[in-house]
Amino acid sequence: MSDFKLGLEYAKQLDAADDLSHYRKQFHIPTDTNGKELIYLCGNSLGLQPKSTKAYLDQELEDWANLGVEGHTHAQNPWMPYHEFLTEATAKIVGAKPIEVVTMNSLTANLHFMMASFYKPTKERYKILIESDAFPSDKYAVESQLRHHGYDDKEGLILWKPRPNEELLRYEDLEDILKAHGQEIALIMIGGVNYYTGQFFDFKRISTLGHQYGCKVGFDCAHGAGNVDLDLHNSGADFAIWCTYKYLNSGPGNLSGCFVHERHAYDKNLNRFTGWWSHNKDTRFNMRQEFDVLPGAEGWQMSNPPILAMAAIRASLDIFNEVGMEKLIAKSKKLTGYFEFLLKQLGEDVVRIITPQNPDERGCQLSIQVLDADKTVFNKLTDTGVISDWREPDVIRCAPVPLYNSFEDVYHMVEKLKMILND
Ligand SMILES: *Cc1c(COP(=O)(O)O)cnc(C)c1O
Repeated sequence: MSDFKLGLEYAKQLDAADDLSHYRKQFHIPTDTNGKELIYLCGNSLGLQPKSTKAYLDQELEDWANLGVEGHTHAQNPWMPYHEFLTEATAKIVGAKPIEVVTMNSLTANLHFMMASFYKPTKERYKILIESDAFPSDKYAVESQLRHHGYDDKEGLILWKPRPNEELLRYEDLEDILKAHGQEIALIMIGGVNYYTGQFFDFKRISTLGHQYGCKVGFDCAHGAGNVDLDLHNSGADFAIWCTYKYLNSGPGNLSGCFVHERHAYDKNLNRFTGWWSHNKDTRFNMRQEFDVLPGAEGWQMSNPPILAMAAIRASLDIFNEVGMEKLIAKSKKLTGYFEFLLKQLGEDVVRIITPQNPDERGCQLSIQVLDADKTVFNKLTDTGVISDWREPDVIRCAPVPLYNSFEDVYHMVEKLKMILND
């Protein structure tokens, strides 16, 4: 890490040596009112638009215009099996087998559908464990599941908390919670990369531990998919969910991905909410069949999917497929390591990074605390053309995304922050 150097020339050298640097040209980079490219470090919130997306959407619009309902079978990319076109690339990105993944619904909805299957409270075992700084939607979702089953949403919720004056979570503390309460916990639901601190958890460790105590284990990978090596199959987790509009660049509010571990793939007795799209494809349109659930994650689908939305996902997945997660993660570690190196030059009494220092325990995001500052620092940063993200009380989240951010982006961001702080 420490062999990074200071100065703009060095940033330019890193970009010149980066064999992924040309991918930036494949994205629309937002500009200011003078047409100057912004420093966009917000791919953890909404990924940028691939220039290819439009053509993927146009294809479906055209087929719809020309074919109407016949597009289900005769479109260039037939709509009937359209979701299957996303399966293999998705499986690769999250480290799953194709049978374990499906693209459907939106994220929080999928969390509920997964809990319909994997949160099966009993009188003795009904609690849900989440991390204390869970993304609000996840917290609201698990609380409402507790209420839905007739439990008190405070008493039924166990929080895995950081120690006083710390931000990151420690596995010893999780082990202690499970020692004390493991038999009461029905479900462990963790944000796989915490949205606030950027801490990337050890899925295998948490899953193994949870299973030892008889808990089901799920991960929300909204901040992980397309960012870190999730290795979902090998982690042993029961389920995972993620959105595609953050690191996966599929467009605002687009569909969610869902993983159900292979060991549940053929369990027809698993409770679930279903619709015609979870039904056996061969007999789906006979319409009068007894329900016959599809094996694997596809068996959790409900509706025929929105093709226009999926076309945008497909455009993005094709880019990921071409690059591969391995190369992306290698660049990501270097880019974020460089970012960390530059931030540290500002002085650790001025800027504190709350994200883990260990590159294997984080993705590309760094959460920066500017000491004794308020939101005005963030506002000034925005005014100078840096798009980042502010979280109360005092954290600026920045995510240099390896697909379209450059070392120069990172260099200029830190220079601007330095100027603001010296003002
Ligand atoms: C972004 C994000 C969400 C957003 O949920 P939607 O249902 O897509 O609105 C939920 N949970 C986590 C952890 C997120 O990062």
